[in-house]
Amino acid sequence: MTNQRKVIISEFVKAGGHLSAEELFRLVKKKASGVGLASVYRTIGSLVEAGLAVERRFLDKTSVYELEEPGHHHDHLICMKCRKIFEFENPAIEEQQKKVAEDLGFSLKDHKLELYGWCNRSNCPNL
Ligand SMILES: [Zn+2]
Ligand SMILES: [Zn+2]
Repeated sequence: MTNQRKVIISEFVKAGGHLSAEELFRLVKKKASGVGLASVYRTIGSLVEAGLAVERRFLDKTSVYELEEPGHHHDHLICMKCRKIFEFENPAIEEQQKKVAEDLGFSLKDHKLELYGWCNRSNCPNL
């Protein structure tokens, strides 16, 4: 693994997810000014291909990325005012989704559940 890749991945891990390639690029630049946006795209692309990261598109349809822990799945709530993304895991919902798929004779491989609304954080402009 090259040094550039190492910096990109370590900044990605530190940022904790839901990060666009441009946002990650800005973080990486502070650590290693020689890294180009193309390397950031390439590195993220290879993580996605390897199943270590996933691409998501929320409100503005910009691709954001987060690490994917194998065997761990979470869904998202997105605040339409402040754009903050909240994560949740709910086994009952997971079960129901599997059941719906099964009842329709569908072999479920993946799913995305995104809930949109207004959060109640004190610093959300909604309040
Ligand atoms: Zn909010
Ligand atoms: Zn997430």
